[in-house]
Amino acid sequence: MNRVSIVRCPDYSYTKKAIAEALELLGGLEHIIQPGDCVLLKPNILAATLPENAVTTHPSVVASMCELVLQAGGKPVVGDGAGISRPGATSKALKTSGIEEAARKAGAKVVNFETTGFTLVDVPDPLRFRKLYIANPVLEADVVISLPKLKTHELTYYTGAVKNFFGTLPLRCRKEAHLLGKRDLFGEAVADVYSVVKPSFAVMDGVIGMEGNGPSHGKPVNSGVILASQDCVSLDIVAAEMIGFDPLKIPTTAGAMKKGFGNQCPVVVGTQLKEVKMKFKPSSGGVSTAPSFLTRNLGKYYKIYPKINRRKCTHCGACYLNCSPHAVERLEDGSYRINPEKCILCYCCRELCPSNAVEIKKSLLARLLTEKDSLIRKT
Ligand code: SF4
Ligand code: SF4
Repeated sequence: MNRVSIVRCPDYSYTKKAIAEALELLGGLEHIIQPGDCVLLKPNILAATLPENAVTTHPSVVASMCELVLQAGGKPVVGDGAGISRPGATSKALKTSGIEEAARKAGAKVVNFETTGFTLVDVPDPLRFRKLYIANPVLEADVVISLPKLKTHELTYYTGAVKNFFGTLPLRCRKEAHLLGKRDLFGEAVADVYSVVKPSFAVMDGVIGMEGNGPSHGKPVNSGVILASQDCVSLDIVAAEMIGFDPLKIPTTAGAMKKGFGNQCPVVVGTQLKEVKMKFKPSSGGVSTAPSFLTRNLGKYYKIYPKINRRKCTHCGACYLNCSPHAVERLEDGSYRINPEKCILCYCCRELCPSNAVEIKKSLLARLLTEKDSLIRKT
């Protein structure tokens, strides 16, 4: 089923009504959830940040879904693992985002993937990983539902329903995927995760989205919609198109389609796409309009690299702990620097820095080739 519903939701006071309508347009939850089913709801709980920063799925979206799952006869369980490689990071993110309290009040169990364990499973038709460790609550659930946030992303341009399941991996596996070092390969790794999780549904928080330097340091934008679909790939295609990106150039969508998921032309029901279309600013990462053969041969004239702003850095060490190729180095005085020779431009340090202290530097030529329009922007 490749239908995607769009319902306007001007602010979070209308969340439950909008979600209920979006689900109804697709036939409701009752044909997916059997009475007594354990339903794992997977919001985006990337980091410990307040709901108004638009980094995490809004707690009202999580609470509404818990209530609707209960009404459909299911038992809601809300779970995720934060992006920072530090004990207690997920617990802090669950609390600060308001998700833990909202989910509990709505009658759900809350689980922390950091502490619930992982099981090694085979990946069907693998693209990058033949086996993966996946969080136990995801494997144990009867039904899995993605609750992503509509955001831009420096590595994957856009992050949505498919990429949301990257959070079901233990952090060491996430680092391995980042070590693949290329956007398309990373997208294929996420598609491998998606093919194991096999979600039944997705409901996207597009009420306040994030443009610019997402997924953590972009600008909140009032995009005013809830999107839903039984097919996460189709939802991502419609959402990316809605914010002005070329959906088929999103690496996670391309990876999932390579594995046979999704459909290039999903059917939109409810509010029509053209009525809610807008243009999100893409991230300022290394998105280039130049063909790759050209940028490869420009050598030192074409450089994009992250640099730590020492005035903003609080020496928390998150970038150091999460850099897969160990490009972040700790100096004797306790400060940190990035070794550009080792950096694979995965942008994790930028994504996870709580002080927005990691800046992207570009040579003049790189600035010229990456500014204004971008490869992913639809004309
Ligand atoms: S320094 Fe930052 S962008 Fe470079 S590899 Fe490490 S985490 Fe990724
Ligand atoms: S750059 Fe950011 S993540 Fe790295 S140590 Fe400084 S404050 Fe922490």
